[in-house]
Amino acid sequence: MALAMRIPVQTACPSCGSRESRRIVYGMPTEKAFEAAQRGELALGGCVTYPGKPSRECCQCGHHFSRLRPARRFANSD
Ligand SMILES: [Zn+2]
Repeated sequence: MALAMRIPVQTACPSCGSRESRRIVYGMPTEKAFEAAQRGELALGGCVTYPGKPSRECCQCGHHFSRLRPARRFANSD
């Protein structure tokens, strides 16, 4: 019996393994983003963006991490 690796695409915190993470929104937040941040639904990363910036914040330990993305941008190279 092969146990299929049923790892959801959902991101888990690499630090504590929690599945509860929120998106980090960069740039000037909209009012809605601001309200969502107040509710703890997302995190505001500020206006400074840089390459490789983390995209998720763990709800449990506050660790910032990036979600692994499929290298789709490299697929169509013409
Ligand atoms: Zn964590």
